[in-house]
Amino acid sequence: MNLFPYQFHNINNKKLITNDAGEFFFTNEKHLDKLIKREIDGKFTKFLLNKGFMYEKENDLYWNNFKYKLVKRKKLPDQLSYFMIIPTLRCNLNCSYCQVSRVDEKAKNYDWSAEDLKLFLNFLETNNTTRGKIEFQGGEPTLRLDIINKIQHWIKNNNLNFDLIICTNLQNLSNDFKKLLENENVFISTSIDGKKSIHQKQRTKDKGTTDEFYKNLDFVLKNYGNDKISALPTFTDFSKIDETVEYYKELGLKSIFLRPVNFQGFARKKYPSSLNQVDLWTDAYFKSLDKIFLNNHKSKDRILEFGFENILKRIFNVGYNGYVDLRSPNFYAKDNVIIDYDGKFYPSDEARMLTRIKLMDFSIGNLRDGFDNDKLSKFNWNSMNETNPDCINCAYQPYCGIDIVDDISRYSRADLPKYLTSFCQTHMKKFNYVFDKIISMDPVNLFNINGHLTKNFNYQPPFGQIYYDTTH
Ligand code: SF4
Repeated sequence: MNLFPYQFHNINNKKLITNDAGEFFFTNEKHLDKLIKREIDGKFTKFLLNKGFMYEKENDLYWNNFKYKLVKRKKLPDQLSYFMIIPTLRCNLNCSYCQVSRVDEKAKNYDWSAEDLKLFLNFLETNNTTRGKIEFQGGEPTLRLDIINKIQHWIKNNNLNFDLIICTNLQNLSNDFKKLLENENVFISTSIDGKKSIHQKQRTKDKGTTDEFYKNLDFVLKNYGNDKISALPTFTDFSKIDETVEYYKELGLKSIFLRPVNFQGFARKKYPSSLNQVDLWTDAYFKSLDKIFLNNHKSKDRILEFGFENILKRIFNVGYNGYVDLRSPNFYAKDNVIIDYDGKFYPSDEARMLTRIKLMDFSIGNLRDGFDNDKLSKFNWNSMNETNPDCINCAYQPYCGIDIVDDISRYSRADLPKYLTSFCQTHMKKFNYVFDKIISMDPVNLFNINGHLTKNFNYQPPFGQIYYDTTH
């Protein structure tokens, strides 16, 4: 019998054991010791074989199962299918933590030209992309509704299968915008920071603008339903998380993504404490998650939290690697690319912001000349946690990700030992929290684990035996 390589981690005196294929189980200190010393008896061998930690010989069923899961976890989609485009950098609001260094609504030379639009459509054709998503970011992209409409016509005329997501501040719901929203493939993403007072303080500034936003939000929800719109809060005051969750439920929204203000763009100056707020944020986040779980359990008015859902899917759904912040390798421009108002390509929206504030030029090509493959390859060599000296010894490596743009943003370098980074410290705590919920076997936790994994809230554990000791 042979053991696959494994890592272990202590969670509340239980030992979590994982391997590169993402298999896991818990045991006690005694059995971890036996594993390390290879004093594995028949019963333990059987358990380890069934759990995907052992194989008898190369190419047997266990060996192939491990290989299959390993490849599925590492394989990235090989076709560009997510295009985040910025038809204009102009915006009609001036939010306190704008991350993209927007420009004034009346500014000149911050929009796509007719030539840029033509180049973009050619780019889609050249890449042979016939399906996927096009997300319109800004600035405020509805200031260039003409460009969005032209892309929508092009999709229809060519019988292509694209969803359009318009990230808008919902200040101006014109008739043309409403008409566009009647298309089944067109959706809205917006920021709702909480109740009116919070949203006004952080974004809309005056009562008239605030009222306009809530009137338009109400119109969209009433006329198109809550499937038409996804909303995101950004938290600067962590004491407001619970009331914001309740407000999302009042609006009939079924999902919320709890996230703190990001150390990017204008927020770097206005919220310098966002440089390092790991403990502050995770304490508040976990408390709020616990409240969400209790409320989901006792009431039918339920809500899912995207971050928790995403981590669960990384653990349980082999091959779930569509979320760029939580996958490795995380090679750039494989399945998604950002195209700025000047036609330049970026690996992520954060990379675009950091270039804009002149921290470092993260552009990786442009619509006219195509990708800068030399630069891409330099980024990509640093976008694997599989080769990082800290990560290779971490039990969470098969589920975790890598984000060198965040590291460079905070520390001006990508080679800081991972355990010193905000990314690592935050994810270490999040994985501890999630695995603690998993091993608890508590009915409230199981109910929410199922709800977040499958949208079917029930008490059935979505896993077999996960704790090993000789009494089992
Ligand atoms: S970043 Fe941190 S938590 Fe993630 S795999 Fe690396 S060491 Fe583990």
